[in-house]
Amino acid sequence: MKLVSPSMYTVPKTAALMAGTEPAAPGHAQDGKSAPKCCRWCGKPLVNPKRNQECCNAECRDAWERSKRARRKQAAAGKPKGTCLWCDGSFDKMRQQQDFCCPEHQQAFNNFWKGKGPALAKALHAWRVGKAKGGLTDVCREFSAAREELKDKRTKARAVATSKGEKR
Ligand SMILES: [Zn+2]
Ligand SMILES: [Zn+2]
Repeated sequence: MKLVSPSMYTVPKTAALMAGTEPAAPGHAQDGKSAPKCCRWCGKPLVNPKRNQECCNAECRDAWERSKRARRKQAAAGKPKGTCLWCDGSFDKMRQQQDFCCPEHQQAFNNFWKGKGPALAKALHAWRVGKAKGGLTDVCREFSAAREELKDKRTKARAVATSKGEKR
């Protein structure tokens, strides 16, 4: 009576490689032998394809690469662009409500407006709730002043970043 299944004693596949009896054929191991590779452009089966070979000849390869590039370009063009509220740089929108090119700029923007918020809110309050005469002008003035300061800050921040060798 056997207590242990015979599979316990099967030799691991790596043992053969380590012994050097059967050198690994690079590129073929993961392809499998059952499905022959076909030219990505014309669909003809590839005869003894090299590793990473996708097409049967240079012409097909050129055409295939061209179509790949075109598709990539189209995909990039299809993405909606946003303009960063902090650096005015354009970026690919990953989600609908994205206003910043990177988390750092969102942080910088938030920090800045946190300080400016109360003055702006006061002006808004006077305009909408207090119905102050020329209230909207005050709101605009507060906002413009803050924007100017923001621009100034941003320029300085950028100068520091550039001197550090960062690209932003
Ligand atoms: Zn081909
Ligand atoms: Zn930005």
